[in-house]
Amino acid sequence: MPHRIAVLSGDGIGPEVMSVCLDVLEAALGDKSALFSFEEAAVGGVGIDKCGKALPAETLSLCESSDAILFGSVGGPKWEHLPPDKQPERGALLPLRKHFDLFANMRPVKAYPELSHSCPLREEIMQDGVDIMVLRELTGGIYFGNPSGRDGEGQNERGFDTMEYHRYEIERIAQLALETASKRKQHVTSVDKANVLSSMVFWREVVIDKARVYNEEQKIAKKMKVELNHLYVDNAAMQIILAPHNFDVLLCGNLFGDIISDEASILGGSLGMLPSASLSSHKSGEGYFGLYEPAGGSAPEIAGKSVANPIAQILSGALLLAHSFNMTETASRIENAIHEAIRSGARTNDIANKKLFTKDKEETISTIEMGQEIKLKLT
Ligand code: NAD
Repeated sequence: MPHRIAVLSGDGIGPEVMSVCLDVLEAALGDKSALFSFEEAAVGGVGIDKCGKALPAETLSLCESSDAILFGSVGGPKWEHLPPDKQPERGALLPLRKHFDLFANMRPVKAYPELSHSCPLREEIMQDGVDIMVLRELTGGIYFGNPSGRDGEGQNERGFDTMEYHRYEIERIAQLALETASKRKQHVTSVDKANVLSSMVFWREVVIDKARVYNEEQKIAKKMKVELNHLYVDNAAMQIILAPHNFDVLLCGNLFGDIISDEASILGGSLGMLPSASLSSHKSGEGYFGLYEPAGGSAPEIAGKSVANPIAQILSGALLLAHSFNMTETASRIENAIHEAIRSGARTNDIANKKLFTKDKEETISTIEMGQEIKLKLT
């Protein structure tokens, strides 16, 4: 039986970057592409137009019978008049996260030296490179804590939310952070606010415990130890800008991860370069069940013009191979091909150096041409 991938391209630039992504994945997989079947289904605005729902029942059932979901992006002005819970993003992504218990969001942020012009930080800060994996807990914390709401009246009227974490929620994300770091630079920085919040004192204790047990197991298996340090979230927000090269894996709860992952994403230069993976607590055969998608949205203002950068979508496909199917070698070949294409000057509009004088202006290429450049660099 081939591995089944649900392909949900969605709206705006989704279909154009997805088609390039599938083309690159097929080329990178070579003979192994016969092991996969990619099946399309409607989602987001397209789902609303075709079936009256952002997440149609047939789409959910395809996802349930698949080993992973490759997602494009959803949303656009056409559906903005709908009530919030019927809109493409809330109506499709949130139910998928809940249904599949997608508890961990991974955002790898890499800054290529060749694209330093796209990054707002000074060159001397960026010269040591940036390669950070932001790992955000996605299904717990203050966004889901109870009670949450409003009550009272007059001067006593109030709004409230609850920050809470259970041991199992911290343990599973900490375990993933340690496993991820062990395949990278063996360093986890846990972000908390243990100087103020009880839930974060508990977070820190559980993370320390988990790292101790993990490192004892590594020692027995004669594998490398993973270093752990802790930063308060306010300090972490500063350090990411002051010395981004100091980080390997950043482990965050839901609220802090939401903010820190967006802050870190600007280091990559363009949303068009940033993939993400949301992993499920359910395993699927060789790896995690997961939903893989670009960090950006449907970019409606450039949709249909073939100027969108397909790299975030292609890197999302590489993450799918690595985390759902343990195909880390093929994933690395795709990443290297992307870096080679950039090194050789391939630029979509979002990553072109616009500060150059008109005569030296970097030539920009289309979405499809970027895919072709990347395919040429696959070794
Ligand atoms: P956006 O991410 O779509 O666009 C922000 C900026 O980044 C725009 O300038 C856009 O042109 C640029 N950009 C994004 N991806 C790019 C790419 N691949 N190549 C080149 N440039 C790229 O965010 P927005 O404008 O706030 O939202 C537009 C729509 O997308 C809204 O309907 C929003 O609800 C939706 N959205 C969807 C998701 C998702 O599907 N996960 C996430 C965020 C926003």
